[in-house]
Amino acid sequence: MKVPFLDLKAQYAALKSEIDEAIEEVITSCSFIGGKVYGRFRENFRQYIGAKHAIMVGNGTDALEIAIKALELDAESEIIVPANSFIASSEAVTTAGHKVVFCDIDDDTFNIDVSKIESLITAKTKAIMAVHLYGQPCDTRALKSICEKHDLFLIEDCAQAHGAQMSGKNVGTIGDIATFSFYPGKNLGAYGDGGAIVTDNDKLATFCQMYANHGRIEKYNHEFEGVNSRLDTLQCAVLDVKLRYLPEWNEKRRAVAERYYKAFRDLSWMRCQAQLEDTLGVFHLFAVRVKDRDSFINHLQESKIQPGIHYPIGLPFLKAYEHLSATAEDFPITHAHQNEIVSLPIYPEMSDEMVSYVIRTVQEFKHS
Ligand SMILES: *Cc1c(COP(=O)(O)O)cnc(C)c1O
Repeated sequence: MKVPFLDLKAQYAALKSEIDEAIEEVITSCSFIGGKVYGRFRENFRQYIGAKHAIMVGNGTDALEIAIKALELDAESEIIVPANSFIASSEAVTTAGHKVVFCDIDDDTFNIDVSKIESLITAKTKAIMAVHLYGQPCDTRALKSICEKHDLFLIEDCAQAHGAQMSGKNVGTIGDIATFSFYPGKNLGAYGDGGAIVTDNDKLATFCQMYANHGRIEKYNHEFEGVNSRLDTLQCAVLDVKLRYLPEWNEKRRAVAERYYKAFRDLSWMRCQAQLEDTLGVFHLFAVRVKDRDSFINHLQESKIQPGIHYPIGLPFLKAYEHLSATAEDFPITHAHQNEIVSLPIYPEMSDEMVSYVIRTVQEFKHS
């Protein structure tokens, strides 16, 4: 049996008539930027997340950069970012004109270690970025109280966590401003690039809306210089169809995850990402730690199961950040994880047989 890491073709096959019809509606109307379909998706996504405002932008990286710009921080401001994430999280801090300060991750949750944050706060710290990595809510409650205590903004990077919840609230509605990615492989993926910003704050929302569209609200009345980062209407058409299936897809991902957790609980050589109490993850990825990673990956590949690594190099150790001269002692958990982390296939279209096959194959691995 073959188990690919992800199967977007199977997803399209299941929705073909609805997607094709939605795309045709846009092409027939020739309304490619803005318009009815754009407005409909923006409103449906806003309601789904439960925020007061939603702003649609070109991609998840732009979403982060624009959200940070909206905070209007001084140039030398510092923003604390988890040391294990996709580079967009930290990159956006730099491109918005500020300084990245990395924080190590927690050994069990694989998300930011909240106990290590306060020692990183200086007079220049102005915000913390929460990343809900692999679709698992990070300890946003703790982050929020740290932010309140030190008068910092809380930015949520929800690129991997559409529909994940903490204490019954969707992630993206807990911090001051939050961002999503609609990159094709994300839980809610477009047929190209896409992203969104959500916030309850009117002023931040207006800034983001204007900045992403050349600093304007009316056609030629530009109040400041911004950028062109709009979500085009064809992507909105695709996303609006897929949004209707997202709750069901997230449920299916959770069902796969539950089987994995149960089956791997007693494996002494493997550790799965821990879930915090009172959270509902959406399992964009199912991340585990294995000491003997190379042979484990080999074993899976020989059985035609395709794993992934997210991420093989922790952010502080990338060449892009060599000027920070980070050492293994500075980020011990991130450093250990980058050599042990493996992502197993997880997606709504996985059959029960495929899940059983992955479980059996993992259990058969002879760990040294
Ligand atoms: C995908 C991703 C982004 C960036 O989104 P793009 O749409 O690819 O620009 C940001 N942060 C995280 C954690 C991501 O996984």
